[in-house]
Amino acid sequence: MTGFIIVLGCMKCGKCDSVCNTGALERIDGIAKINHEKCNLCMHCIVICPNKALKLLD
Ligand code: SF4
Ligand code: SF4
Repeated sequence: MTGFIIVLGCMKCGKCDSVCNTGALERIDGIAKINHEKCNLCMHCIVICPNKALKLLD
């Protein structure tokens, strides 16, 4: 899989906090931020976000 994940409309809910196994997903002032160098595109964060704030751009 190629591409990268963007964050748009994060509601700071924290549901994604425990799903990232690579340390790529941080939250800065509550808003999710993806470190693209660490992200392996496993999609766990996209699946769990109830607000559809994470999207894969390819
Ligand atoms: S796609 Fe996977 S590795 Fe990338 S930020 Fe989301 S949970 Fe972490
Ligand atoms: S689950 Fe979605 S809305 Fe909630 S903090 Fe993570 S990215 Fe933001």
